[in-house]
Amino acid sequence: MPKTKTTPDYDIPPSHDIAPVDSFEDLDLDKRVLSGIRDMGFSTPSEIQKKALPYTLAGYDLIGQAQTGTGKTAAFLIAIFQRLLKDPKKSGTLPRALIITPTRELAVQIEREARDLGAHTGLTVTAIFGGVDYREQADTLRKGVDIVVGTPGRLIDYMKQGILKTAGVEILVIDEADRLLDMGFIKDLRFVLKKLPPLTDRQTLLFSATITFSVVEATYHFMKIPVEVSATPESITVEEVTQELYHVSRREKFRLLLGLIGRIDSTKILVFANTKSGVLMIKERLTRNGFSAQALSGDIPQRKRLKILERFMKGEIRVLIGTDVASRGLHIEDVDCVILYDIPQNPEDYVHRIGRTARAGKSGVAISLATEDDAYYLEPIEHLIGRKIPFRVAEESELGEESQMQPQHERERNRDRKTARRKRW
Ligand code: AMP
Repeated sequence: MPKTKTTPDYDIPPSHDIAPVDSFEDLDLDKRVLSGIRDMGFSTPSEIQKKALPYTLAGYDLIGQAQTGTGKTAAFLIAIFQRLLKDPKKSGTLPRALIITPTRELAVQIEREARDLGAHTGLTVTAIFGGVDYREQADTLRKGVDIVVGTPGRLIDYMKQGILKTAGVEILVIDEADRLLDMGFIKDLRFVLKKLPPLTDRQTLLFSATITFSVVEATYHFMKIPVEVSATPESITVEEVTQELYHVSRREKFRLLLGLIGRIDSTKILVFANTKSGVLMIKERLTRNGFSAQALSGDIPQRKRLKILERFMKGEIRVLIGTDVASRGLHIEDVDCVILYDIPQNPEDYVHRIGRTARAGKSGVAISLATEDDAYYLEPIEHLIGRKIPFRVAEESELGEESQMQPQHERERNRDRKTARRKRW
């Protein structure tokens, strides 16, 4: 009778917990990796790094619950660098590490952090995503690169053409797994995962802001038995964010925004709206009222989006307005104020929006504006974060004065409406 196999043929994680580390020096890291950590000014590991690195450096697969802002990128990059430096190159010019991430911006940010953090390692990294020169990225891949970070669509394109070869992948990272699934990338993710070397021949790390059943289900067959660590066990709201809420009428909402932006002493303010038209309306009216503002919506060409982001990061634009899709996972330094112009319909988006501020231990404020249109979305949010958001009713003295000139898009909309009405009659 054939023997049934009960234990997997790889090292399963120990049944006892490996103690988190308190310092990077305790991790026995390659000195080229340590130099990068020092150059970045990271004095102590963040919570997710403390908990994940003892396992990932020992070679185990891992599921980490951590949202953007917790230092998860460095957590997986350090594991990648250490692994690639420890073993000599086996695969010629083939990529040895693959990072799958949902958005182009996130891919660019990870590439940037990998270049900075890995500056002394001699390892090469490239970001692969749609919307930019296809040939340029293909050439980089053909020349050979150690670490590839990309969005699923473009990765698959190159894989199908044989330009991106995955046979040499020793370590795989699935970043923001919940968002990959939310954005409908499940099939693409499976396609990539199936083309990789067998799970026993590689290490797989998965990070997600929330570890839902669908995340685990989608990736279960592609991972060895993983260790699970969480950086935010007690509450998923970033603790350092001061949350405020204004109740205001629909009619006065924009004036409240003007008042807030006029009063807030911050050089980088991120404003979220629920719709693209809302984003454009806010941008136009803020600009007309003398504020330096830019919109970041999904349909703006990639190059332009990156340019806008860069200018915002340099402090050349004071207010950046975006929707969730456009802004998810953005890694923007020093945003100390986030304004939720609309209350998100999906409570998890609230957590992600306010998580743009108070990153990596800094403090920040998140101000939400609720009107008769969206106040009822607050209850599920407060349920999710497990607390009531302190609120106040906006007073007349807190509202800004808006320039009376009618914005162009409103003029056009009114004109279109009039024309439509005339046609109907
Ligand atoms: P992430 O969650 O990966 O988006 O990281 C958020 C920010 O934290 C980035 O600006 C990182 O450079 C920074 N960061 C990562 N690890 C550390 C650390 N150990 N100490 C201080 N900052 C860090």
